[in-house]
Amino acid sequence: MSRTVYLNGDYLPEEVAKISIFDRGFLMADGVYEVTSVLDGKLIDFDGHAARLERSLVELDMGMPMPVEELLAVHRELVKRNGLVEGMIYLQVTRGAPGDRDFVFPDPAEVPQTVVMFTQSRPGLADNPAAKTGLKIISIPDIRWGRRDIKTVQLLYPSMGKMAAKKAGCDDAWMVEDGLVTEGTSNNAYIVKGGRIITRDLSSDILHGITRAAVLRYAREAQMEVEERPFSIEEAQGADEAFITSASTFVLPVVEIDGVAVGGGKPGPVAARLREIYLEESRRSAI
Ligand code: PMP
Repeated sequence: MSRTVYLNGDYLPEEVAKISIFDRGFLMADGVYEVTSVLDGKLIDFDGHAARLERSLVELDMGMPMPVEELLAVHRELVKRNGLVEGMIYLQVTRGAPGDRDFVFPDPAEVPQTVVMFTQSRPGLADNPAAKTGLKIISIPDIRWGRRDIKTVQLLYPSMGKMAAKKAGCDDAWMVEDGLVTEGTSNNAYIVKGGRIITRDLSSDILHGITRAAVLRYAREAQMEVEERPFSIEEAQGADEAFITSASTFVLPVVEIDGVAVGGGKPGPVAARLREIYLEESRRSAI
């Protein structure tokens, strides 16, 4: 069945929604995005995603396409029109279509941004079987640009990383720079040692995950110890547990890294507990 999508103020059937071949998102990856999960027909961590969207836009000399309340209203309208119960809402804002190809940014007063939003239905999103079996990870060098804190649509390398993992019979890849893990292709990376949760500290080296912020807050509230510092693949392989977080996977255990079993090759209790807390709190505070 055709989805109803949002494009520049209109709600349209997906096959009708079209953007220009001159759109800078298409020509230059000049755009940013957000993915917000939906559980029980409600938005998870919406405020965090809206705040990060604004930050990404400002870092690229762009402004918010609409006030946050309106953004929320469009998200909710898409959920309603598509009868979305469990899944995600994808949002993308680009610098628009100046009608030609030019490296110089167009004047925002003359060229409006392109704003696209669509739903992705994923029944069973919160019931991911990988929560029980765990993920197998490979490591790859992190050769992305230096502003990974900006959520741009330049996703070719992460996409290649996922394909390399798939080719190796694994689920995902963690990226490594100067001997230390930065993050997963589309998630933040963690290890657990002696009950302590370790994850790389925030900088322009990684995306500031909205799920990361929530999970660390819940962990601290539950009196778990958190240490924000980088770790190596070797340290992760020798850890008690490893896991990832992202908006669409929540918390998922990692049971193998570059062919080495982590924590006896079974999902660990800390990741399981954090997943449980995150889902419970998220459902409670969903809007
Ligand atoms: N790092 C990268 C590179 C990502 O693409 C994502 C997911 N978009 C994350 C981390 C996790 O961020 P979030 O929890 O906000 O989904």
